Amino acid sequence: MHDSEQHAATLDPSDWREIREQGHRMLDDMFDYLEGLRERPVWQPTPDQVRQQFTESLPRQPGSLAQAHQTFMQSILPYAAGNAHPGFMGWVQGGGSPVGMLAEMLTAGLNANVGGRDQVPLAVEKQITQWMRELFGFPEQASGVFVTGASTANLIGVLVARRKILGAAVRTHGVQAAAHHLTAYASTATHGCVKRAMDIAGLGEEALRSIPINADGAMHLPSLEAQIAADRAAGLQPFIIIGNAGTVDRGAIDDLSAIADIAQRENIFFHIDGAFGALAMLAPDLAPRLAGIARADSIAFDFHKWTQVQYDAGFVLVKDGALHLSTFEAQEKTYLERAERGMAAGSPWPCDLGPDLSRGFRALKTWFTFKVYGTEKLGQMISHSCALARYLQQRIEAEPTLEVLAPASLNIVCFRLRCSAGNSAENSEAISEAVNRRLLLAIQESGIAAPSSTKIHGRFAIRAALFNHRSTVENIDALLDAVLKFSSAASATMPAVPSSVKK
Ligand SMILES: *Cc1c(COP(=O)(O)O)cnc(C)c1O
Repeated sequence: MHDSEQHAATLDPSDWREIREQGHRMLDDMFDYLEGLRERPVWQPTPDQVRQQFTESLPRQPGSLAQAHQTFMQSILPYAAGNAHPGFMGWVQGGGSPVGMLAEMLTAGLNANVGGRDQVPLAVEKQITQWMRELFGFPEQASGVFVTGASTANLIGVLVARRKILGAAVRTHGVQAAAHHLTAYASTATHGCVKRAMDIAGLGEEALRSIPINADGAMHLPSLEAQIAADRAAGLQPFIIIGNAGTVDRGAIDDLSAIADIAQRENIFFHIDGAFGALAMLAPDLAPRLAGIARADSIAFDFHKWTQVQYDAGFVLVKDGALHLSTFEAQEKTYLERAERGMAAGSPWPCDLGPDLSRGFRALKTWFTFKVYGTEKLGQMISHSCALARYLQQRIEAEPTLEVLAPASLNIVCFRLRCSAGNSAENSEAISEAVNRRLLLAIQESGIAAPSSTKIHGRFAIRAALFNHRSTVENIDALLDAVLKFSSAASATMPAVPSSVKK
């Protein structure tokens, strides 16, 4: 084979100097972006001609890296959802950090596949597991694994609990072989991914019992106990209770100790969806509110939310490591055979603890984030976002035209513009929803701030979730100013309520 053929085959450049210089420009552009983020709009609608750039046919000929970079700067970067921006307050999203960004570059350069094999990247993942055991008070035999996000981590919790109640047979015969129908329990405020997990696990969404909530959004425990008793009486098999450490809509925390008592007494697996709230353990002022979390059988959480690790970085911690392994470990290993020495050593591997075989090195950006910032600083950042939420709540309470629908339990405030119109309760609720929807859209489209929405006890609410470590009092003031500025336009010239909102 000739040298020229070699060059034709590899994706590496013949001249590294050029790509190195281009790489430095790309890195500088991202530092400029992060440094100047505050000056940009949080979000802006994508113009049609920008969207059309991404509908072209398969590129057959090589293009220039510099050109692709320019397209990124002009047509991709300005039109992202904006969760890195300090004015972003929608859904539950982290903002990333400059340290995490640099770690991602190292991860990409190394391109480690951490499904398994004897390599230090696996030791880094085990280091994170060890840290999480320490943080949550889990024992030595507890296991952990990185996954995309809490959706998959919650699914793994359900599958581990299913394996526990049905034994090894469920892996060969499926749920069809089960003598009794399995039932699961979680509050009505539980994230929709838990219902999906029941579906994916072959148990069906209906097997998830939705337990009512108290006024503060936490699970009503007498209803939980009554439902378990009724299901047992009907010959069903309760197998998992899913507690919330921070509900997605308003950050409510279930009484985890009391649920642990019920789960223990009833001999039911206790899983916690702590997608964002579990990591409030890092904040000394918040950790006591999670009392009982150490008694869970498994916890799902995301490093990419409150701890700002770059997307994606979900994690599940399982107390009984042997049970976790027995839920996923391949029964037969041919080409994935393990060894005492050599590259196939170090079993069990992460691929034995979840559905993925090939996996990226998510542990590295998490390791960098914890090593460089330290848990004290991360905890302070988490506490600070709760303080900002309390400040927002006070400002709303001081405005006669606004009302708080769910006070700040953690870092989320739900509120709305008061509406007096309407000739019946139902009618005025529909008008209020339409007005507040318009107000929300006006705020989002202004690029000043980006809250999202939810329903609190059936009432439409504007929801500000303060997860971004860059957010300050100025961002809260800017949100309030925008709310007040756009509220008269949102309530004026209100057309007849469309039937779609008359629920
Ligand atoms: C975000 C969230 C989820 C889903 O997590 P992903 O990382 O998006 O998969 C589940 N539960 C709660 C409470 C959440 O906040």
